[in-house]
Amino acid sequence: MFGRGRKKSDNTRYYQILGVSKDASQDDLKKAYRKAAIKNHPDKGGDPEKFKEIAQAYEVLSDSEKREIYDEHGEDALKEGMGGGGGGGGHDPFDIFQSLFGGNGELGGGINRGRRQRRGEDVIHPLKVTLEDLYTGTSKKHTLCRNVLCSQCKGKGSKSGASKKCSYCRGLGVKVSVHQLGPSMIQQMQQPCNECKGTGEAINEKDRCPRCRGEKVLQEKKVLHVLVEKGMQNGQKITFPGKADEAPYTTSGDLVFVLQQKDHPRYRREGNDLFVEHTISLSEALCGFQFALTHLDARRLLIKSNPGEFVKPGQFKAIDDEGMPLYQRRPFMKGKLYIHFAVEFPESVNPDQCRALEAILPPRTPSKLTDMDLDECEETTMHDVNMEDEMREQPAQSEEAYHHEDGDLLQCLQQ
Ligand SMILES: [Zn+2]
Ligand SMILES: [Zn+2]
Repeated sequence: MFGRGRKKSDNTRYYQILGVSKDASQDDLKKAYRKAAIKNHPDKGGDPEKFKEIAQAYEVLSDSEKREIYDEHGEDALKEGMGGGGGGGGHDPFDIFQSLFGGNGELGGGINRGRRQRRGEDVIHPLKVTLEDLYTGTSKKHTLCRNVLCSQCKGKGSKSGASKKCSYCRGLGVKVSVHQLGPSMIQQMQQPCNECKGTGEAINEKDRCPRCRGEKVLQEKKVLHVLVEKGMQNGQKITFPGKADEAPYTTSGDLVFVLQQKDHPRYRREGNDLFVEHTISLSEALCGFQFALTHLDARRLLIKSNPGEFVKPGQFKAIDDEGMPLYQRRPFMKGKLYIHFAVEFPESVNPDQCRALEAILPPRTPSKLTDMDLDECEETTMHDVNMEDEMREQPAQSEEAYHHEDGDLLQCLQQ
């Protein structure tokens, strides 16, 4: 006795369709399905019924629960369970194909099959913004020029809404050409039909929509306001879903703007933080300073040193909440503003000034050089160099030599 008095039905057919044994692993099934689906794909001239069967078989066997029911009770049990007459689930075989191969389930890449909706391509535009724009947020105008379905005929192309099969492609929407590549090799090429633009339809001359002249689409031009929000990042996408070109039997792709931040002459951004370089004189570094820093929103910040504190060359200082706004999560919160200090030293001081400085500054570390050392060491002369020029003039192989000299110099200083 099986099930509810049902006679045992066939439970091997699905395995035969995919050409695998009953104990095939999920991996085996996937491989077998790929092979069979490509071989029998209607875009390659395969039988659509066979393609559907292959998808059905794979859909059932790749699902462990369905596979168990099938192994135990056969196809009929599944049909009952699913309530669909299609046999083992009512999924579109092209969707199953798509889930494994990506794309739109079609081999030809965008060929319209009957009334199946395909998805149009996304349109991507770069959108140049300044760091100021990203700090304060702004709205950018973009003149959009795109195809839209004719509103008069609703994209049918005809007054009556009727159409007939395109005679150039016999309604397939594609033209197939065969090239002989070698004695036993042929290549099949598919291209969307030019006459019907891949729709497979033709419109009677007299029935043509007067607005679009049977073209189904019209050009539309309009100004779009792209909202650049506070704190957005370089490379971030702003998407207008479905605003790419419209075409018959097609789900329009998205219109996507990709933010491209121009370099700022003063500020550099890293995540939510801002960096700015500032040069002070040696006197300022030692005795204190204050200056006004113009921020990205034109506010002027008063920056001042702490009394009695030295600012060292290359030192960083941070100001909280003066960095970039945090995008979306909390736009009223901001990152940090880092100031990187450079200290400009005077070229030289005279011996009197030197003595005056020595009287104020912490004492020099006494020289460890003995008279004997001084006798032994060779005299050298240092001169000024511009390191950038030096590196440019020197061929690549001399880099080692440079490091070597550097090492010698260091040794001498340590003595
Ligand atoms: Zn055609
Ligand atoms: Zn029209």
